[in-house]
Amino acid sequence: MQVRIAEQCGFCPGVRNAIALARHTLQSKGRVYCLGPIIHNQDVVNELTSMGMKTVDSIDSISEGTVLIRSHGATKKQLQEIENKGLTVVDATCVLVKRVQKIAAELEKQGYQVVIIGDRQHPEVQAVVGFAEHVQVIGSEEDLHNLNLHKKLGVICQTTQSPDHFAEMVARIIKNGFSELKVVNTLCRETMHRQSSAIELCRQVDIMFVLGGLHSANTRKLAELCKKCNPNTFHLQNWKELDIRVLFGKRVAGVTAGASTPDSVVQEFVERLRQFDSLTETACPNET
Ligand code: SF4
Repeated sequence: MQVRIAEQCGFCPGVRNAIALARHTLQSKGRVYCLGPIIHNQDVVNELTSMGMKTVDSIDSISEGTVLIRSHGATKKQLQEIENKGLTVVDATCVLVKRVQKIAAELEKQGYQVVIIGDRQHPEVQAVVGFAEHVQVIGSEEDLHNLNLHKKLGVICQTTQSPDHFAEMVARIIKNGFSELKVVNTLCRETMHRQSSAIELCRQVDIMFVLGGLHSANTRKLAELCKKCNPNTFHLQNWKELDIRVLFGKRVAGVTAGASTPDSVVQEFVERLRQFDSLTETACPNET
């Protein structure tokens, strides 16, 4: 089978940095606590766990040692708790996420009601919420009704949202009315490039695969965007999850991967897809 890979896919710099920092810390200290899974990939989590990393849900379960802050960041409250307990911090918060946190705090200082467009359950959004006193999260259209339109609104966006969604929500805010509006583009360029190259690719292929964790927000977003352009899009974690029957009759496959998908997963998937023609002959002898 012919396979094309999206121009940009797989680990982003923020995730690479977090994993490198985790490895480095484990080599020097032997043990590190990570606040939430470092990435949405079980193989990588297992590898780091075998080196001594312990994933915890809350700081309550840590009494001493070193805490790694993953690329999504941590809330101000969590950082304060870490400091109060005298724990050592290894901060792997992505620089782009830190930028969003800083902008939220600055907007509030300038008198704006901070509004973030994003998923309120996502740790990045939760961390941003903690960096200003009153942040309103716009997860969907319904949330727009809660905005106080007499206030000066300072609008930012979760780094991994799509530009189209950001633009649509801002347009709706403008239509609803406001006294003053300041919009700061906080989208991650890496994510935008991944999304645009995936969309471009899925238009050229018979079948599209988006590889990555089922809980990974950026992978889910990639899959959602690809599905809109190519209904033959499948979001899978790895080759083992593929039902090869979906390949029958397809000639060209496209592959992309979320920011937390290791290169090895992409490579294995692509190699096996490329070898698929011979299997097709066995499985579908009459196919031309
Ligand atoms: S997706 Fe973008 S913002 Fe998120 S960790 Fe990666 S580089 Fe940073």
